[in-house]
Amino acid sequence: METPGSQTSLHRANLERVVRAVRMAGSLTQAEIARSTGLSAATVSNIVRELKEGGTVEVTPTSAGGRRARSVSLSGSAGIVIGVDFGHTHLRVAVGNLAHQVLAEESEPLDVDASSAEGFGRAEELVNRLIEATGIGADKVVGVGLGVPGPIDVESGTLGSTSILPGWSGINPSDELASRLGVPVYVDNDANLGALGELVWGSGRGVRDLAYIKVASGVGAGLVIDGQIYRGPGGTAGEIGHITLDESGPVCRCGNRGCLETFTAARYVLPLLESSHGTGLTIERVVQLARGGDPGCRRVIADVGRHIGSGVANLCNLLNPTRVVLGGDLAEAGELVLGPIRESVGRYAIPSAARQLSVLPGALGGRAEVLGALALVLSEMGDSSLLDAALPTGAPAFT
Ligand SMILES: [Zn+2]
Repeated sequence: METPGSQTSLHRANLERVVRAVRMAGSLTQAEIARSTGLSAATVSNIVRELKEGGTVEVTPTSAGGRRARSVSLSGSAGIVIGVDFGHTHLRVAVGNLAHQVLAEESEPLDVDASSAEGFGRAEELVNRLIEATGIGADKVVGVGLGVPGPIDVESGTLGSTSILPGWSGINPSDELASRLGVPVYVDNDANLGALGELVWGSGRGVRDLAYIKVASGVGAGLVIDGQIYRGPGGTAGEIGHITLDESGPVCRCGNRGCLETFTAARYVLPLLESSHGTGLTIERVVQLARGGDPGCRRVIADVGRHIGSGVANLCNLLNPTRVVLGGDLAEAGELVLGPIRESVGRYAIPSAARQLSVLPGALGGRAEVLGALALVLSEMGDSSLLDAALPTGAPAFT
């Protein structure tokens, strides 16, 4: 055992800091590692050399600000991570390595609500097929990130609301998948994973405070505060869809009236166009028509944007985020929806709370959640296995 405060345990702590920084960022120059860990350039240089010799990291020449630099990433062969995303109508799986490279990805249609057993069976098959396609052994899998389209109860690990996925009542999704695949499974809801995905791979790169808002059959937000997903003690943080906008508005599925969701979610918005455009519309189709100049669809999308903007203004006043990323099909409307969002933020947020804010469309589209599932494993996996494999016990402490 290492004595706390001893040279060896300090050295180990420094190694962990460097590995954690690189693990979350994908790749960093040595100068960036020094900045983000607070370690000196000389210490970082020594640690990187040691980690490289042990096979934990790879170092490649790059340039930063016109100067030669060395880019450090975790070794691509050090392990693989799996992302599994259950949407309401699809299953998507991605396989990546610890250097943040996506090695294989596939999605298939699936009625997830119908039967959880069928869903998990199909996920198991697809995961095994993709691992085989990468040619890297299944023994290299360090963990699986699992996304489900509803809030997870933090204490029981089951879905917090059975009305969202009736076929999943009483199921603990991470236990179920872990017993099938034999590796650790980390679970989270789709909004949190979308936030993580955009933070690590997409429109949120480089910021530490972000809200990812997804408008689909419901409306949810994933909140990143100081680089970490904020879930709240019960796992329900980010239920932006149930902010009250109009006390005498339509009755919401939550039992309140005039929630943001009742002005923005597909089930409330699409019927507005039925008398003029007929039935069978989807948000995707409305966005297409709006982009083609259809005035009714443009009006509906602008109204949705203004209402989302009211919610975002509240969020700014509470959390002062630097970025709001809009995900889901609605993001494809671009300025037709983003403009009205910004307009409402300008009207309702305290100016100082929104000064640093930028509102951007998601960069990852429908892949945000599955890539977020990969990022969830990268964030939760810890460094022990990496360091124990790379370092002999009692490695000399020279930093
Ligand atoms: Zn509600």
